[in-house]
Amino acid sequence: MASQPWNPATWRSKPIKQSPAYPEPEKLSQVVKELSRMPPLVHPNEILALKAHLRDVAHGKAFLLQGGDCAELFDYCERGAIESKIKLLLQMSVVLIWGTNKRVVRIGRMAGQYAKPRSSPTEMYQGQEIPSFRGDILNGYHVGERDIDPSRLMKAYHYSAATLNYIRASIASGIADLHRPLDWGLGHVRDPVLKDKYSTIANSIQQTLRFLEVIKSRPDELQTVELFTSHEGLLLDYEQPLTRLLESPPPTTKENNKSDTEEAYYDTSAHFIWIGDRTRQLDHAHVEFFRGIANPVGVKVGPTTPSADLLNLLRTLNPDCEPGKITLITRYGAGKVGELLPQHIRAVEDSEYRHCVVWQCDPMHGNTLSTPSGIKTRRFNDIYKELQESLRIHKEQGSYLGGVHLELTGDAVTECLGGSEGLEEDDLSTNYTSFCDPRLNEKQALELAFLIADHFSQ
Ligand code: PEP
Ligand code: MN
Repeated sequence: MASQPWNPATWRSKPIKQSPAYPEPEKLSQVVKELSRMPPLVHPNEILALKAHLRDVAHGKAFLLQGGDCAELFDYCERGAIESKIKLLLQMSVVLIWGTNKRVVRIGRMAGQYAKPRSSPTEMYQGQEIPSFRGDILNGYHVGERDIDPSRLMKAYHYSAATLNYIRASIASGIADLHRPLDWGLGHVRDPVLKDKYSTIANSIQQTLRFLEVIKSRPDELQTVELFTSHEGLLLDYEQPLTRLLESPPPTTKENNKSDTEEAYYDTSAHFIWIGDRTRQLDHAHVEFFRGIANPVGVKVGPTTPSADLLNLLRTLNPDCEPGKITLITRYGAGKVGELLPQHIRAVEDSEYRHCVVWQCDPMHGNTLSTPSGIKTRRFNDIYKELQESLRIHKEQGSYLGGVHLELTGDAVTECLGGSEGLEEDDLSTNYTSFCDPRLNEKQALELAFLIADHFSQ
């Protein structure tokens, strides 16, 4: 398969899952044409910089933190929502740097996470069966907006651009400035032992930062903050027109030595895109599209992934064994990880891909449940358990768990049960605002960072 000719449109001749039936195909063609002349959202040099960081993660020299909404909405493109997510990711990464003693690579599920795979074409909404919400890039959440509308693809581009612009502006303007005291907000932690543990970590971080300040020697990691963007590369009608044959590094930065530059196809919709659990069939369209792009890419791996498929996927997507090119995002569920992860680790680590992939734990997607009253939620304890098990198993198997993939928001939502606030079923309705999967709120997310830091610092 890898030797077959590839271009950004070869996926069109393959079977495809989760692909929408557009009611107006001519309108779709028009939008795709317009998208193909819009400027790239990200630059190939940034994509290559991320790939180099991920190579370090694959080699055990850095840790990857990836997080954001399950379904990003166009409405989240506003100052407060963007800032709170950036701040949370930065604060979590400071905790992780402290705990792991490694550089932390940050990727937001932001500025493009608008397309959602769905298990069923319809769903119940306020007592009515209507077409499923497939993410703002295809249809709207409210009744009357569920028809697929191709003009939303162009809107998605503009909302991504505005979000990315504000991420870049905030970071350039010092949102990550650690001169300002960080608010650790530990007041909610009820368990005195945990509270003590978190306070010790927070105080130690604060002291270290003050010390670095005094001696005016801040490591690069705290001086230049990078935040990369990512989304599930589900809607290939959107990814294809943003995939461009580009040179990198550009001739201007390479003393105009043409022979030093290399042309490759970059998907410029984001730095990193991943293949979801429902669309990773080897001979299908998504794998075909992903095998041709130069970006680092993720693949969700779950209970339905045979080990043999995993190796075939790696051989198709990364035939040259480039370290850091592929992130395996494992998501089994707390009850299944113990049985399934070791097999997957052995399949990969006993092959030519040893020390080549980034192993990342997504402790969210195997742990979704519904309350008796039908609310979709997750237990903080299950999330933590899958993560803790994954850390333990990797250690046991001699591989490196290089990152976490989380659904989180910087707001005080009440979507996941438990955590130090002790959220219970009756609390879920207080501020449940997700239109898709339940996210960790800012306290639960930070708590998870403390727990990972604690694991590594033992
Ligand atoms: C997701 O990441 O939101 C998602 C749908 O995950 P998965 O493909 O693993 O089910
Ligand atoms: Mn999700």
